[in-house]
Amino acid sequence: MPLDVSELPLVGGHPVLDLVNTLERGGGSSPHDHLSDSSDLLRWSVRVGVLSDGEADQVDRAWHDEPAAAHAGLVAVRDIREGLHLVMLSLITDADGGTAGDPVEAGAALVALHERWAGAAARARLVLDPSGVRLAYGTVPAMVVPDRIAEAALDLMLTADLTRVHRCPVREGGCGWLFLDQSRNGSRRWCRMADCGNTVKARRLTERRRAGRPPRS
Ligand SMILES: [Zn+2]
Repeated sequence: MPLDVSELPLVGGHPVLDLVNTLERGGGSSPHDHLSDSSDLLRWSVRVGVLSDGEADQVDRAWHDEPAAAHAGLVAVRDIREGLHLVMLSLITDADGGTAGDPVEAGAALVALHERWAGAAARARLVLDPSGVRLAYGTVPAMVVPDRIAEAALDLMLTADLTRVHRCPVREGGCGWLFLDQSRNGSRRWCRMADCGNTVKARRLTERRRAGRPPRS
């Protein structure tokens, strides 16, 4: 039974890496999308801090009045998610020194991500607040969610140390989720040690024990 989006572990260290992890790409099993509809997307957006509760109520009303906008928002977010995944894969170095991504696909994804962000920036407004002037993304209720996520995607790509984005190692039995390694020495290998790391270790131990046991006569 797949986890509900409200229970999905947030291990990415940045909202848009958690976004990438909402699609379980599965090693062999069929993919599962935790953002199955616009209401999942809305709940997830509040959970990761993309929206406040009050803003979510406004978005909910706008999407209720305009179902096509709700669908377009979901499509835009999934598109950003896919683009970011391709870009991140092209930057992540595997244990053998190669990358799991295709630079041509990543380049095309950057063009699409820039277009999403440009649309969001066109709808953004300069606003005065007590500390000065800031650029506020998401001023149109029906578009707040994709616009804020486009902003967050640019924030990750331009301000995070992308050499610290790692993938829970699939080849070693990990889940493939992405995370920003904020450990002091950059040595974090698993999305969550309590989950993937320990599961893989326990499996290896069982395999070693089995291998060492004499065959039954
Ligand atoms: Zn994992």
